[in-house]
Amino acid sequence: MKKKMNLGVKILIGLVLGIVIGAIFWLTMGAEAAGAFTAKYIKPFGDIFVNLLKFIVVPLVLLSIMDGVIAMHDIKKVGKIGWKTVAYFLVTTAIACVLGLIVANLFKGSFPVLELQEGAAYEAKSANLMDTIVNIFPNNFINPLSTSAMLQIIFIAIIFGCGVLVAGEKGKPFGDFISSFNEVTQRVMSFILELSPYGVFALMVWVVAAQGPKILGSLGLVLLAAYIGYILHTILVYSLSVKIFANMSPLRFFKKIFPAAAFAFTSTSSVATLPITKECCDEMDVHNEISSFVLPLGATVNMDGTAIYQCVAAIFLAKCIGVDLTLTQMIIIVVTATLASIGTAGTSGAGMIMLAMVLDAVGIPPTYIGIIYGIDRLFDMGRTTLNIIGDASCAVCVNHWESKKESKNVA
Ligand code: ASP
Repeated sequence: MKKKMNLGVKILIGLVLGIVIGAIFWLTMGAEAAGAFTAKYIKPFGDIFVNLLKFIVVPLVLLSIMDGVIAMHDIKKVGKIGWKTVAYFLVTTAIACVLGLIVANLFKGSFPVLELQEGAAYEAKSANLMDTIVNIFPNNFINPLSTSAMLQIIFIAIIFGCGVLVAGEKGKPFGDFISSFNEVTQRVMSFILELSPYGVFALMVWVVAAQGPKILGSLGLVLLAAYIGYILHTILVYSLSVKIFANMSPLRFFKKIFPAAAFAFTSTSSVATLPITKECCDEMDVHNEISSFVLPLGATVNMDGTAIYQCVAAIFLAKCIGVDLTLTQMIIIVVTATLASIGTAGTSGAGMIMLAMVLDAVGIPPTYIGIIYGIDRLFDMGRTTLNIIGDASCAVCVNHWESKKESKNVA
């Protein structure tokens, strides 16, 4: 218990020190030199840490979801928890989109209409909805594991977990093996986690040294709109849902989730943050079978921060190129941003690529993503933080619903 708290404090110290030292670099060397220097000599330490997290994340997602399914002992229970989880994810993401649109529309008057230069164009990979759906189903067992295709890995984990449950006695040895393999993986993960304060420090120094001055530019406004959306969503949706659905004080929830939030803020990857999110949920007494199922699924499909960002960015880019969006187009944005956020991988910068799908749907050429490309990391820090807080709030609520049901059954 004490040790886990210490890790949170260490991460906070790493974060603050990173900001201070990054700012010193920026002030003394100037943006360009500071960016180049920190990218060459300091960021690599952050990269080592992120590499280790990526390395552990495939076995972690595969084994923890499989183990979570197996631990439910009953395939009907998998269906019930799965249904509640997906419903929570969809409703909160749709609220996030509406909130994003409202905030962006309030800011719209101050967004600039740009005189676009050729350099602004960025060739985005267009992602279409049907491809996203078809790509959930793997045509090979090994490829998804070696390429970290998260949706496919989740599919494999759920279907094999169900296979173990249905196979009964004969499936038991395999189930025990998975459980033991999962336990070992969690231990390896905690070795890696011990390094997180250093990783956070190195990445933060680099971000502040390299991106600092851009915050002050004209893009600061759209960034501000996104962050207001993130903060409102956190206060309105997560505080209320943990209070109403899980009877937990929002303050306690935010305090406990802080280490994961701080890490998501610097790593910009929900999937890389997953081990820490899981530890935070353990601290909030979420049952292992629930967090093992909800969190990896959430890190891959539940992206409220990404949804807010995509809505704000769509309104901003429309204004930049002088297009006034109609109400119907706004509704299309809500639907496509919800779907695009589901299809977004929980990795750094993925939400910006999926933004192409939202822009396409309302007729804005995705090449204009180039306008905000340079500061995407700054958006990504906030949206990833929101994404993982959303996953944890879902785990806490589902945990409460299930324990209430169990105590009723016992009575
Ligand atoms: N970086 C985000 C995440 O991992 C995804 C995104 O780019 O929106 O949650």
